[in-house]
Amino acid sequence: MNGLMLAPYPLPQRYTIPKDVCGICRCSLALTSDLARLKCGHLHCWQCVKGLPGCADADSSADKGMEDYGPLSCPTCHKGSELVERIRKPSASLVPDVCGGPFRDVTVTEAEGTVAVWKASYYLPFCVNQEVVVGWGDLNFVNWKLETAHIVAKLTRDTLAVTCKRLAASHKTADAIFEALRWDAEAEAFRAGLRVKDALASACQDQIRRLAGRKHKKRSGASFGEGSCVWVCGVVGRPEYNGLEGKVTAILPPNTPDNKSDVTRYHVCLSLCGQLVSLRADNLRGSDTPMTDAKLMAHCFRTMSLGKK
Ligand SMILES: [Zn+2]
Ligand SMILES: [Zn+2]
Repeated sequence: MNGLMLAPYPLPQRYTIPKDVCGICRCSLALTSDLARLKCGHLHCWQCVKGLPGCADADSSADKGMEDYGPLSCPTCHKGSELVERIRKPSASLVPDVCGGPFRDVTVTEAEGTVAVWKASYYLPFCVNQEVVVGWGDLNFVNWKLETAHIVAKLTRDTLAVTCKRLAASHKTADAIFEALRWDAEAEAFRAGLRVKDALASACQDQIRRLAGRKHKKRSGASFGEGSCVWVCGVVGRPEYNGLEGKVTAILPPNTPDNKSDVTRYHVCLSLCGQLVSLRADNLRGSDTPMTDAKLMAHCFRTMSLGKK
């Protein structure tokens, strides 16, 4: 996880497109509606940044290695950056990237002075390559990768909880804490890490099913009981909920007075501020498996023996 520890700073909520050129292709930034901002603050065309070494192509990750990413060097100031914010002018065909976070609305002053709402999303310049996972033929190896993903995800959530404590100490109301959490760059970096590990875990689970011979069997939806320990993942409308842990307090069956939708919903009490949220099973992950020393030790031994191969 090294490289993800950022000094706390808020993500910008407004941008001004400079009357300047992209440091890579030298085209006017005013002409592009798809920009990338590196941590140093410099803007470039997204199409140029995604071609830099260390940046996975968000549109097609097929030719990239599994964990082939490193600090991106800004072509303008040469400062390193692990995260990229992509800022796009909304259009009917605009959809979030595979490895990107949920959209946040940002106010953009365009080069000719027009002010408009654009969509920003933040992520590690890296995504899980399904084709690489499908190529893993050793069941032990896939199980070990899955376990590693779970352990790293748990450690990331623990670190995110520290960020939450910091924000809770400096804001008075639950609303203010959650709003700060939404725009906190450190929290967004941890959420980006969790997205990648969650995608890797589900790719590993699919591969384990494939290797075990149950071909093309659809993944059965997870189910949770009252009191289940869970963490939140993949919520688009409220990105600040992602990565938070909580407990299921009630199960709402579909088509009932409390839940008029067609899918079961779960009431979850988040550990942050005791916030009550209602979510679907696909936005919940189980976190019932506590990390015992014995389990960690066993994992380290497997890591050593697999590493010798
Ligand atoms: Zn460019
Ligand atoms: Zn720079």
